[in-house]
Amino acid sequence: MPVEPLLSESEIRDRMAALGRQIEDDYRDRPLTIVAVLTGSLIALADLIRQIRIPLRIALVQASSYRGATTSATTLVINEAFAPDVTGRDVLLLDDILDTGQTLAALVRHIHDRGARSVRTAVLLRKVGRQVVPIEPDYCGFVIPDAFVVGYGLDYDDDYRHLPYVGILSQ
Ligand code: 5GP
Ligand code: MG
Repeated sequence: MPVEPLLSESEIRDRMAALGRQIEDDYRDRPLTIVAVLTGSLIALADLIRQIRIPLRIALVQASSYRGATTSATTLVINEAFAPDVTGRDVLLLDDILDTGQTLAALVRHIHDRGARSVRTAVLLRKVGRQVVPIEPDYCGFVIPDAFVVGYGLDYDDDYRHLPYVGILSQ
């Protein structure tokens, strides 16, 4: 399926560098752990941490949402196999995209429950007009229109994650 470019490699690189500066300033002298949500945020994680010049740890968490066959309600399942030790740490939760907000809101609660000292959120992308759970990301790469996007970690049916840019998948 054709992919129409939306954010170029260089735009993303510049934005990641700017976010890195911000995070560095905000977390100086604090025990930072970046918890990345698998799998979509892997590329953003790799690029972002190389722009942050203060000590930090990284951890991973997996969350899958299942839509009921007969209802539109979604259930979020958090995979405890990756449960990071965040006790007393300042956690920055990183996801690829903020859509309805359900995933991020649930993960913030979860990380708090696991004993983190603070929890903030960072997203590469935020879609306009889709949010149902009120959550304001502390760091946001780009605000994008309501379209299905792929690349730079984001998939369609597990493909397209390796594209170095973000594009709109036309179907
Ligand atoms: P939320 O819980 O905010 O509705 O869902 C966020 C998750 O839905 C993201 O982590 C991502 O996996 C998926 N998602 C939402 N919109 C898109 C999109 O445009 N493209 C892709 N590839 N995934 C999306
Ligand atoms: Mg995801």
